[in-house]
Amino acid sequence: GYRSRAAYKLQELDEAFGLVRPGQCIVDLGCAPGAWCQYLRRCLGTRPGADGQPRLQGVIVGVDLLPMEPVDGVRFIQGDFREEGTLVAIQSALADALGGDAESRVDLVVSDMAPNLSGVEAVDAARIEQLIELAVDFAVHHLAPEGALVAKVFHGGAYDAAVRLFRVHFRTVKAHKPKASRPQSAETFLVGRGLKRH
Ligand code: SAM
Repeated sequence: GYRSRAAYKLQELDEAFGLVRPGQCIVDLGCAPGAWCQYLRRCLGTRPGADGQPRLQGVIVGVDLLPMEPVDGVRFIQGDFREEGTLVAIQSALADALGGDAESRVDLVVSDMAPNLSGVEAVDAARIEQLIELAVDFAVHHLAPEGALVAKVFHGGAYDAAVRLFRVHFRTVKAHKPKASRPQSAETFLVGRGLKRH
């Protein structure tokens, strides 16, 4: 079982777009309580290490404002993704896991981040937009050339800008609303693949 039904959304996205493969290096933004981490871990699989204990085939770094119960093999960073210190912590976790510079070496960035909503439409649109911009910026600097970014967006004020921003940076951009999302929910996921060179 999974910690939350959110795992089925990522599973559907993966089935639709073929995103996750063993050996990949993946960053999971807004990862608590950890259902996406659990799904990703299953997809990557394990192999017995030198000590006979199962070792993850690949790298998963998860980030959240909130604490998270450990998921075996996942490197978790508690912090606000809007803060520089969190970015530095992610980069050093990646560098440590990959044994060197993390730039252009991440295969997949997934973001299920959702801001706290104020109820004031313009304020909320700006908060959503900021998280999307930061996720895209992170992806542009860390994804390998054929890497992919999956990010949750909401229909409303921030949606069109998010699609435009994805199109600036990715060769292929698709929008997908998983069946596991409640029909009344405004959430959709954007999937960008293949970085454009600027
Ligand atoms: N994908 C997760 C799972 O499968 O368990 C569920 C994610 S939940 C829908 C959204 C998460 O985004 C929350 O845990 C929230 O704390 C996190 N979040 C929102 N804003 C954030 C920020 N600025 N930095 C880090 N995490 C953030």
